[in-house]
Amino acid sequence: MLNKPKIAFYCASSCGGCEVSLVNLHEKILDVDANFDLVFCPCLVDTKKKEVEAMADKSLAITFFNGGIRNDDNVEMARLLRKKSQVLVSYGACATGGGIPALANLFPRQRLFNTVYHGNPSIDNPGEVEPQTSSVVSAGTLTLPQFHDKVQTLAQIVDVDFFFPGCPPESAQLAKVVDLLVAGGPLPPKGSFLGSGRKSVCEECRKKKVTKRSQSSAGTGNQSRTPKPVSWSRVSSAWAPPPAMAAEGFVPRPSCPASDVTALPREFSTKEPKWQRPSVECSTFRL
Ligand code: SF4
Repeated sequence: MLNKPKIAFYCASSCGGCEVSLVNLHEKILDVDANFDLVFCPCLVDTKKKEVEAMADKSLAITFFNGGIRNDDNVEMARLLRKKSQVLVSYGACATGGGIPALANLFPRQRLFNTVYHGNPSIDNPGEVEPQTSSVVSAGTLTLPQFHDKVQTLAQIVDVDFFFPGCPPESAQLAKVVDLLVAGGPLPPKGSFLGSGRKSVCEECRKKKVTKRSQSSAGTGNQSRTPKPVSWSRVSSAWAPPPAMAAEGFVPRPSCPASDVTALPREFSTKEPKWQRPSVECSTFRL
């Protein structure tokens, strides 16, 4: 079919699961291919941003935009795709309501950086380096988008036509929307939620819920783990707050046994303590 309507899928700050829901259309994706021209989808099609910029405004019939808005690049792409699309769909829980990434909005930005780049036992960062928006290296200047203080939804940045909830949206629901688009509509009024059922996924699931406690009592669950014995010297060095956090006055949370290091038995687990500033209630912040 010549001159098929052009569609796009884009992921901003996303886990990639929303793209999986597209691939999970299985043979239905052939209907998408037969009726639409997928011109922009970074995980499937190697179209560059400058090629999208060169497209005529409103030349994309429909764009499915997933992921939250966390940085300057996400904002720029949201505005660009809004300009190029006749219909913009906020696809998935992150784009529609913030989703899992927006849980980070409970914490100040620097607290996130402290956890990821300084207070993380799996990170070796002796220089206390944090991502910079611009870095000069021998090959030239490298840039990164500015990381925002908060995650925002797509509709907080641009005008959105439809919302498609789910984490990720169910492929069966996406298939129904594809059928609707292939049939030429009619589309519901602007602002409607597409592809949402009356029940949650958990309600529809036929699997029997088995709790760990019932598994354990039946003798089939995980056995409780015995803490690994450690030496005092290892404990005391592992539990010093990272330098950047120590400079801010972080101390172990009162509820954490590490707050009284001297009382710890020799065999106590090396589990990382939870840090807090002395003036902060431990129920307010949990790292
Ligand atoms: Fe991933 Fe769920 Fe967000 Fe989609 S809505 S990007 S699946 S976390």
